[in-house]
Amino acid sequence: MNRSFPRPTILVSSCLGFAPCRYDGGQLYSGIVDMLTGHVNCIDVCPEMEAGFGVPRSSIRLCMDHEKMEVWQPAQLRTVTRELQQAVDSLQTFFEKCDGAILKGKSPSCGLFDVKIYREIENPQFLRRSSGVFGKAVLKAMAGKAVEDEQRLSNLVLREHFFIKLYTWARFRSIAEQGKMGDLISFHAAHKLLFLACSQSRFWQCGRIVANHGKLPSNEVYQLYTEQMGETLKRPARRQAMVNTLYHAHGWVSQHLAPRERAYIVNTIEEYRDERIPLQAVTRLIEAQAIRFDRGYLLNQVLFRPYPPELADLSDSGKGREVQ
Ligand code: SF4
Repeated sequence: MNRSFPRPTILVSSCLGFAPCRYDGGQLYSGIVDMLTGHVNCIDVCPEMEAGFGVPRSSIRLCMDHEKMEVWQPAQLRTVTRELQQAVDSLQTFFEKCDGAILKGKSPSCGLFDVKIYREIENPQFLRRSSGVFGKAVLKAMAGKAVEDEQRLSNLVLREHFFIKLYTWARFRSIAEQGKMGDLISFHAAHKLLFLACSQSRFWQCGRIVANHGKLPSNEVYQLYTEQMGETLKRPARRQAMVNTLYHAHGWVSQHLAPRERAYIVNTIEEYRDERIPLQAVTRLIEAQAIRFDRGYLLNQVLFRPYPPELADLSDSGKGREVQ
């Protein structure tokens, strides 16, 4: 089945293959960014360059100063909190047009979840991990969108979910620009199985918004749907929920199958449940039956091709399994 895909726009840390802007004048290679460049529009930004810190520059770190977080440049014995925050504020104009972001992990500017925070400016003792200055702003402004650091994307589950969110938001953005209710109804119908697998209760809430019993204007309906969809996609689908969804999809073709064919698909779903085969092995099998019996409802479901198949890569570092 051929499905056309939108071209998402993502925000990327410049040092991940775009510019030698690291403190030491280096730049990094990111396989995931490299793989995505042919499929997405990238907006690369470096908050520290934007702040005028230059290259090479002394490194910075995040320190608590009483209750306040400060950005400290030890070699210069100065705080640069205001300069970095101003740069971050100036980059916010990009957030709205982006469907996701891939930022450099552990960076005091770009890091999302794992940036070291030190106890005091004068006392460089590790306190806890948190977000960097830019990472925090991205997480807040792009809540629910596809936002990850490049290291966590080496984990198969997180990467698949990142792609699912990225392409779902890109599809949604393309219809939200027009704001037509008919498009939203079609969008919701096509994402039914995908959203059901992510969160059954959220899917029904999205449905109530689309039904629009309160006769709200379409821009308000879209706004409510945006918020609810962000919640729906917050976490990857749990395996049990996905298994239930696969059985639901199987129900649309099973009555046409011979007992041995039915048993084969059931067995394949159970292999997926036992983590012996990837999800695509099952969805392709059910999709093949949908094509065979011309089940338009199933063929229209995004679950079967949520993102371009060329992006499917089954390698898994196993790292970062704890989803934020
Ligand atoms: S991590 Fe962010 S601030 Fe640091 S060099 Fe890369 S893009 Fe610039």
